[in-house]
Amino acid sequence: MDEYDQSPSEIETLTLGLLHSRGEVERLREREQLVSSLLGSVNVVLWAFDWNQKRVVYVSPAYETVFGRSAALLMADYNEWTNSIYPDDMDYAAKSMASVIELGSVEQREYRIIRGDGQIRWLSDKCFISPRPMNDGQILIVGIGEDITEKKQMQGELHRLATTDVMTGVSNRRHFFDGANAEFEHARSSGKPLTFLLLDVDDFKKINDRYGHQIGDRVLQRIAHCGSYVLRRDDLFGRIGGEEFAAIFPNCGAEQARMVAERLQREVQRLSFPMDGQEPFHVTISQGLACLGPDDDLDDLYSRADEAMYEAKRSGKDCIVLG
Ligand code: GH3
Ligand code: MG
Ligand code: MG
Repeated sequence: MDEYDQSPSEIETLTLGLLHSRGEVERLREREQLVSSLLGSVNVVLWAFDWNQKRVVYVSPAYETVFGRSAALLMADYNEWTNSIYPDDMDYAAKSMASVIELGSVEQREYRIIRGDGQIRWLSDKCFISPRPMNDGQILIVGIGEDITEKKQMQGELHRLATTDVMTGVSNRRHFFDGANAEFEHARSSGKPLTFLLLDVDDFKKINDRYGHQIGDRVLQRIAHCGSYVLRRDDLFGRIGGEEFAAIFPNCGAEQARMVAERLQREVQRLSFPMDGQEPFHVTISQGLACLGPDDDLDDLYSRADEAMYEAKRSGKDCIVLG
């Protein structure tokens, strides 16, 4: 009787337990569906990486859209991950990932990836060690990443606008002097030579008066173009005023700098500006050069190049003076 009496309550308990766990399973399933649909609808990639096994153990659905690659392949083969990193950024990506182990987290990493279709995109991610203690000493690094290519392009465009002279496309005054300062500091600490060049268009006012401001602008653009291709890779060149340009020749003494200036002089003399129904006209420039002396600061160097340039004007223009 007792046994019989007990039975329903045991069954009851079991049934209740079963119902309860069914409810729990249902709740978990709903929650999982919610999380998956959230992860599927946002364009951020979540991933989990088993550090010891060197295996990607989870990646969210956005991986396939952002990387244009198969998630199943990534989970099966870690090389799929390393293959997707742009080779120049591989070292950075590997070192920054290793530093997560040391620091616990890395707030922001930026590197390029190669999508399955060959496109190169910028990715930004944040990674940290999973705070939950893992079995068997497993270290799980989790990360959240997003495609920042458009943001990077915008930053690049803003940087270009902030550093270049819109009309001529060469460095603007501020950017030129920022670079000049850095080169000056470098020359001071290394003891290497440095030469400053200042260039001013001759009789530019007359060009504007005779042919109009638009043609004057064209003259400045062509001179800027000469400067860009005559100067060497490490030289700096910029437009520092209306019809004034400047150059810095790092690691370069007077003789070498004079040779570059002479080439520039000839290239500008060769420019020809055709005019409707008139003879084409030509332009000339006056240049001043100054080499860094032991007691100079950058302003001294600039002033001496300026004096040399005015000396060139006084000497009849279309020439180079070394100050
Ligand atoms: P010098 O041979 O002594 O250098 O005489 P200059 O006529 O070249 O010098 P000046 O300083 O008298 O005139 C410079 C002119 O450059 C005056 C200004 O209107 C003109 N200028 C400045 N910026 C621009 C520009 O962006 N475009 C054009 N077209 N002209 C400009
Ligand atoms: Mg001038
Ligand atoms: Mg002038």
